[in-house]
Amino acid sequence: MTRISQIENVNGQIAPISLETLAELKAVGYRISGHCKNHYCGASRTLDLDALIERLGPEYVVINETRIPRNFLCQNPACEHHQKGIRGGGLILQPPT
Ligand SMILES: [Zn+2]
Repeated sequence: MTRISQIENVNGQIAPISLETLAELKAVGYRISGHCKNHYCGASRTLDLDALIERLGPEYVVINETRIPRNFLCQNPACEHHQKGIRGGGLILQPPT
């Protein structure tokens, strides 16, 4: 299991923390975006973390999981995948900016 490691300042000290669940990613301000796998489309959007937590639970492990990208549905009206309801995409975890 790969975890995202991040250095965070805790009480004036540098301590490594790791992130893998929906709640942990949300707590530090990560965003998850989904990308359409249709090569002619390439649309992406930021996924609703609160909606994912509601559906999958706060302890749901995001790293290396396949359920969310497998169920990603493109919302670009011009995209063939959107029109035909073809699911599937890729996920990118975006650190807080
Ligand atoms: Zn698309």
